[in-house]
Amino acid sequence: MFRKTQSWPQLGKGGKALLPLLLLLLLVLAVSCSNKGNTAGAPGEEEQEDGDSDRRENSGETVDYQALGVNEVGEIMILMYHEIGEPEGTWCRTPANFRKDLETLYEEGYRLISMNDLLDGRIDLPAGCSPVVLTFDDGNSGQFRYLEKNGRLVIDPQCAVGILEEFHSTHPDFGLAATFYIFYETPFGQAEHIQKKLSYLVEQGFEIGNHCYNHGNLRRLAPKQARRELALQVKRTRDYLPGYNVRSLALPFGEHPEDMSYIIEGNFKGTAYRHDGILLVGANPAPSPFSRDFNPAALPRVRASEMDTDGVGLYDWLEQLRDDPERRYISDGDPAAVTVPEELADRVDRYRLDDKTLIPYK
Ligand SMILES: [Zn+2]
Repeated sequence: MFRKTQSWPQLGKGGKALLPLLLLLLLVLAVSCSNKGNTAGAPGEEEQEDGDSDRRENSGETVDYQALGVNEVGEIMILMYHEIGEPEGTWCRTPANFRKDLETLYEEGYRLISMNDLLDGRIDLPAGCSPVVLTFDDGNSGQFRYLEKNGRLVIDPQCAVGILEEFHSTHPDFGLAATFYIFYETPFGQAEHIQKKLSYLVEQGFEIGNHCYNHGNLRRLAPKQARRELALQVKRTRDYLPGYNVRSLALPFGEHPEDMSYIIEGNFKGTAYRHDGILLVGANPAPSPFSRDFNPAALPRVRASEMDTDGVGLYDWLEQLRDDPERRYISDGDPAAVTVPEELADRVDRYRLDDKTLIPYK
């Protein structure tokens, strides 16, 4: 279904000797990323490029691509969450474990970008950092819950939105982004608060994605029924959020028909839909949006879980990407350039660069 990174350079037997060096590199990377993170979120700063060299002046600082392991055709984890609550399970992450995930990602130099930013190749991170995308399926109540406190509605500090906002307040350079793939009638439970929740999410920069109107199995449904499931979700979302553009779809059960044409785009009774990105259920990081391997109609996700992960859960991949930094997307700090090690330059899909400059370096 999805081509794994078969032609990526892998560490063979001889690679073991490189491990201490790689660990050192990683340390340099992590320190650099978190240091520079303090000045993150300053797009449009004056930057000068020196295309012939492997260094770039960045706000007075020199970006050493090689030392940071910059690789913008590296892979990106799109994490898949379902319920946040108790107890921990295959499809449920506890609040404590969700906080641990965020902390670990932060410490290892990951920073949040939104799904739409990934689809648009709009990755604006400090040099040395790696993007990560958070996705939540099903609109479970533990993802976004209001509590009544002294007659006032407050966001439950134990729900995903509450935890993300709290973490962002103490780690502002981590970013704040996630996409919620909801179905109806009552996303997040609390029927009386649907309008308030959806409005709030979009105001905070979170995204709403398609997960079918009634969580239908798109492989089993006839095309007309499938179009109905997809269009009604968009229609209902727009009832709450007029004009809102639902741009991506997480396939319920990860299931899809062979013919993806009417899943990607279609309409039903006057409501049109168009999915710029379609998310699968498993089980590996996604290719960079600048890579020839990037297929927006079949984006793999990594399960953010520690149970029944079959060796392909979040912590398995964190370790793999740590051991094989050449495989991991590492930013050059310049959203207008796509910087890659020279030997990986042929992996770049030049049609996906738009007006960005390709910078191969030695
Ligand atoms: Zn689902």
